[in-house]
Amino acid sequence: MIPIPEILNKPSFSKEEIVALLNASGAERQLLFERALEVKLCEVGNKVYFRGLIEFSNVCSKDCYYCGIRKSNELVKRYTLSDNEVLTAARFAFENKYGSIVLQSGENSSSAFTSRIERLIKEIKKLSNDQLGITLSLGEQDEEVYQRWFNAGAHRYLLRIETSDRELYARLHPADHRFDFRLGCLETLKKIGYQAGTGVMIGLPFQTVESLADDLLFMKKFDVDMVGMGPYIEHAGTPLYEYRGELWDIQERFMMTLKMVAILRIMMKNINIAATTALQAIDPLGREKAVKVGANIIMPNITPGKYRNDYALYENKPCVDEEPDQCNGCLDARLSLTDSEIGYGEWGDSKHFRERK
Ligand code: SAH
Ligand code: SF4
Repeated sequence: MIPIPEILNKPSFSKEEIVALLNASGAERQLLFERALEVKLCEVGNKVYFRGLIEFSNVCSKDCYYCGIRKSNELVKRYTLSDNEVLTAARFAFENKYGSIVLQSGENSSSAFTSRIERLIKEIKKLSNDQLGITLSLGEQDEEVYQRWFNAGAHRYLLRIETSDRELYARLHPADHRFDFRLGCLETLKKIGYQAGTGVMIGLPFQTVESLADDLLFMKKFDVDMVGMGPYIEHAGTPLYEYRGELWDIQERFMMTLKMVAILRIMMKNINIAATTALQAIDPLGREKAVKVGANIIMPNITPGKYRNDYALYENKPCVDEEPDQCNGCLDARLSLTDSEIGYGEWGDSKHFRERK
């Protein structure tokens, strides 16, 4: 087998080489992390950009087997923010110089939802003098819907493929959730002109290291602009909970996620990579650790505190007892531990996107 230092010196990685990097431990893993940080600082600099996350609604028409807010989970208290609550959160992000927001929710394809989002995008643009960047994470939609939201002023879209392995995808979703449709959505988003983001969960039941290597190769081939990857965390109200005894240990899922981030940074030098909230659910400094190995985006939660408990995609979600203004100082202080600067008031668009254009 090729030694890790030799792999790290290669201009691109084969699947076997990625598997070797994902299996690295001890000093070899440290070498990977150091190289990833070097690449990050050289290619995108030491700034971290904030995206204020607004969890708009936990009403969802889908039934993904891993997700706590799936429609069949009857224990969830369903909510949808009022216009005023969304605009107040957006104003908070603007006034605190977050630069951008992310509007995320369960999936809803009604025309009333489409129109409401379209109107809110325009209002958010207006209240921030066109200055707040808007990322959407509202699931699979028709091209016409994506186009309307783009025309209204959204310019980035996050749609995780969850896994690039079709067979695994089929085991994680009901039969009417189609891998090809999701892939088609990502293609449409790119065609329309969005900065397209995707990602996967790490440590899913039945997932292998080989499959994770394929995920990284998928992102490279698809030439995405942004990636958000996080550890899979089981939720008692989901069908996959029955496999909880067969999962990788939670710390292993955490470490595997850091390695995925680091390898991706080396493979796709100038994209935006998020340090995801699920990392923080496992380790209070999880996001900061991801920033140290290649991530450059953080999504502070700015959902009004009273709803946060109800947006439980997985268990132990952090910061559920806080209000938005409590996150501010806490992030500032902790990010300084990583020697990062915060790109206050900047969009921090993916450099990859600008160069792709
Ligand atoms: N409904 C939209 C957006 C909200 S879900 C969508 O599905 O695209 C956002 C992300 O949460 C999903 O893409 C999935 O990767 C992640 N997620 C859901 N359940 C999870 C779990 N149990 N552990 C970790 N991440 C999870
Ligand atoms: Fe709904 Fe998204 Fe959860 Fe699937 S992952 S059930 S689409 S919120």
